[in-house]
Amino acid sequence: METHVIEVRDLEFGYPVGGFALRVPELRVERGESVALVGPSGCGKTTLIHLLAGINEAASGSIEVAGLDLAALPAEDRQDLRVLRVGLVFQEFELLEYLDVLGNVLLPYRLTSLLELDPETSNRARELLSDLGLGDKLDRYPDQLSQGERQRVALCRALVTQPSVVLGDEPTGNLDPVNRDHVIDALLDYGRTTGAPVIVVTHDHELLPRFDRTIDVTALISPQEQPKESNGPQTRPPGGERGLSCPQMTQIDADYGEENE
Ligand code: ADP
Ligand code: MG
Repeated sequence: METHVIEVRDLEFGYPVGGFALRVPELRVERGESVALVGPSGCGKTTLIHLLAGINEAASGSIEVAGLDLAALPAEDRQDLRVLRVGLVFQEFELLEYLDVLGNVLLPYRLTSLLELDPETSNRARELLSDLGLGDKLDRYPDQLSQGERQRVALCRALVTQPSVVLGDEPTGNLDPVNRDHVIDALLDYGRTTGAPVIVVTHDHELLPRFDRTIDVTALISPQEQPKESNGPQTRPPGGERGLSCPQMTQIDADYGEENE
């Protein structure tokens, strides 16, 4: 049965190369709740978002998204679930250069036969684009758009399928304040009107009061292997196995401005 809740328990994940691994004892995001994820570059924010979206495969534990345990699904089913029920705004947008704006927004309908492209959907796509100020650019290609416009196309693509949960990986990075507010308004409005939980990675402290809750990813995750030389004091996860009694916003005033990637 479809629900609007995200629940992670005893999640363990490690990349096959490089040695980065994370453990999330517990994370629960309720119906209609909005959460900002913060933390320094490289701490695992994108890795966590990609686990919640079913892109990364957990080694163990459970990741329940929209009523299904992602960790128990084979790769193709995870992809279907993502396309059907998860609205994801990628950190790098991931627009296809050879599709125009409308084609990019309707891309999910090419990725799975489980979604049917009907006139109602096309109209919804046009409406979303128009609401975000792109109504007159439907037939432009990504290289004919500004950064802010590309970002908004990626946002429309995440919402057009009417997802059960919404994930944004720095969806307002590099946007001017007006575009930034448009994007955040659209994400939070969607959550409020549909009950979808909304999780957004951000480095922008000004945005934090807009969310119901802020989670510092460094406090949420515990490294599988303690690094021999950690950069800074390595604290144990608060509450040990109990997990998410993490003090919210502990490190909010730390400098997250360091360039990523
Ligand atoms: P953040 O989004 O918080 O900046 P990431 O989740 O992108 O951090 O990365 C966390 C860590 O995982 C980094 O040390 C990064 O180098 C590493 N990493 C990211 N992607 C991969 C990958 N595909 N393979 C191996 N290591 C990766
Ligand atoms: Mg990232």
